[in-house]
Parts: sequence; C-alpha cells; structure tokens
Amino acid sequence: MSYIPSKERYDSMVYNRCGRTGLKLPAVSLGLWHNFGGNDLYENGRAMVRRAFDLGITHFDLANNYGPPPGSAEENFGRILNADFAGYRDEMIISTKAGYLMWPGPYGDFGSKKYLVASLDQSLKRMDLDYVDIFYHHRPDPNTPLEETMGALDLIVRQGKALYVGLSNYKADRAKEALDILRRLGTPVVIHQPRYSMMDRWVEDGLLDVLDEAGVGSIAYSPLHKGILTNRYLGGIPQDSRAAGSSVFLKPEELTEEVLGKVRRLDELARQRGQKLSQMAVAWVLRGGRVTSALIGASKVSQIEDAVAGLGNLEFSAEELAAIEDILQ
Ligand code: NDP
Repeated sequence: MSYIPSKERYDSMVYNRCGRTGLKLPAVSLGLWHNFGGNDLYENGRAMVRRAFDLGITHFDLANNYGPPPGSAEENFGRILNADFAGYRDEMIISTKAGYLMWPGPYGDFGSKKYLVASLDQSLKRMDLDYVDIFYHHRPDPNTPLEETMGALDLIVRQGKALYVGLSNYKADRAKEALDILRRLGTPVVIHQPRYSMMDRWVEDGLLDVLDEAGVGSIAYSPLHKGILTNRYLGGIPQDSRAAGSSVFLKPEELTEEVLGKVRRLDELARQRGQKLSQMAVAWVLRGGRVTSALIGASKVSQIEDAVAGLGNLEFSAEELAAIEDILQ
C-alpha cells in the first residue's frame, strides 16, 4: 500500500542542534544495524522506517557493512526509499559509514582514501542515492595517516557525495587530532558517533569535552546497551530477542545475575518516574544537552513508539541521578 506520511510528524519530536553547526537532528534517531538485513523480514523493516518518520524521526543511520549479509541493510533501505519516500528526501538525514571489513583484499577495510571513496560509491549505488547527508569514518585506523583519511572525507564532500562528515569510535586524543585536520581543510564535520549508555560511559572521560570545544555534536549509539537497558530480559531470554538470535554482538553470557540485578533496580526507578526503563535510558544519554541524539535500534514498531513517547520526560532530579549512580556502582 502506498505510504502517506503523517501530517503530525513534526508536532512533538524534539530537534537538537549538532554542536555549533547548522544541522539539527531528532532527539531519537533510528539505526539499521540489526533487523534490516537480507536475512530479516523486509516488510517489518519498512514498517519501522515509516513509523519512525511519522513520529518525527528524520535521521536514519546505516553503514556499508550492515546486514547480514554486509550491504543488505543499505539495499533494503534503498528499496524502502524508492517505494515510500520518493518525495521526502529533503526531509531526511541519511548517514552511512566505512571503516570495517567490507570486501576482500587490501582495499576493503580501515581508513585509506582508496577504501573510503570506493565504499561510499558502492553505498550510494546500493541505496540508489546521489548523496548521503553524513559520511562517517567508522573506526580509527592505526596504520593510515590521519591526514589521508581526513583528506578522503574532505574530497567526498567536495565531490558532492556527502554534505557533512563524522567520526565514529575515535577516542578523545585521536578525535581532537582528526577534528583539527578537518578544521584546517575546511571540511564540514558535524558529529561524532560513540557508544554511550548508562552501562558504557567511556565518552565522559574526555571525548565529550573535545567535542564541546570543537563545536561538534554527538550521537550516542546503543543507548539501550543493545537491549539490556530495557525490560526485555527481566523474565528470561525471549525467543525473538537479540540475545537469543544469531547476532554475535549480544551473547546470553552478558546477561549475568549482577547485570540483571542492576537492570531490575533501574527498571524500578524508571517506573517511579512514570517511564519504562528503555525510555529512561534514552533520556539519560540526552541529559544535560551534551548528546545531540540517541541512536536506537529496534526490532519492532512498538519499540520506536516507546522511545519517542519517552521524550515527554527528559528531566532528572539530582536525587534520581544520584540513585542511578548508586545502582551502577
Ligand atoms: P540499542 O542499544 O538501542 O539496542 C536496540 C535493541 O534493543 C533493539 O534491537 C531491541 O532488541 C531492543 N529494544 C529497543 N527498544 C526496546 C524497547 N522499547 N523495549 C525492549 N527492548 C527494546 O542500539 P543498537 O545496539 O541496536 O544500536 C543502535 C544503532 O547504533 C545501530 O543500528 C547503528 O546504527 C548504530 N551503531 C553504530 C556503531 C558504530 O560503530 N558506529 C556500532 C553499533 C551500533 P531486540 O532485537 O531484542 O528486540
């Protein structure tokens, strides 16, 4: 059935500015790492993208290797764009990345100019797009000079294949060096994409300061700690969950009694706030305004609805924050 986006799509979403740039992102963005690949149900992914857009989620995050198989999330997303979003490209922020292994041989991994330029060309073909809004270097490359990798990002923008660029998974020092190079080149770098959640807080040790100083935004990936910071696993491991599935990125062994004990206490605290734990987890990464957007994943439409509904309560009292720290100790 043909899709007509909701007229109310901009009524309740919060849009935050990416650092000191001109770009605004929705407080919740949708990532297509899991559940959008060639092995997943296309119609489920399509329903999630449509519902997200109806709720004001304008930003969709991809990477060359999302699937499985690698590349298939971009192919499916391209199919969805063509089927449903033909008139809406200018209302969407689409990002992709290169940096992890994508094809065999010396040119399909890490951070050479050869890899980044070729990979974005492939991504554009898979999504049937002329340009992406944000192109990221997906992870630092210890063996390629930063000047080369940043030079490739700069070239890509000058070629018109990306409007903005971003970094992902760069630690504070390396991020600072990279941002300095991009600044010198005049490249529009708008964002850094680190992993960040109540259970994974490395960005607090320097990275967020570097970004604040540079006027660059941040988008926190896996804010639900891959699903652990929800009520998903409080009654065992559901058959349709990430931990039960074939993803190597969440193993049942991670769900220890210690972890689940903390999740139970956090769940109780979220209820006292009138929220679900998944909603409190999103609110928590956005607290204080240092993070531009929470980049969630979803396996069903209702999870996207949950995340957006939670934006109604983004404030934390000092007591609530202290209670969270106490639980996470
Ligand atoms: P999350 O931490 O948001 O975990 C998402 C998973 O949590 C869902 O797939 C679902 O799992 C579960 N979930 C979501 N909402 C709910 C809810 N309301 N109730 C119960 N369970 C819920 O993020 P991801 O780990 O999926 O990562 C998000 C995005 O971040 C990716 O799609 C990608 O775009 C980006 N990313 C970037 C990386 C990088 O290196 N730059 C690395 C990893 C991710 P279930 O399937 O069990 O239902």
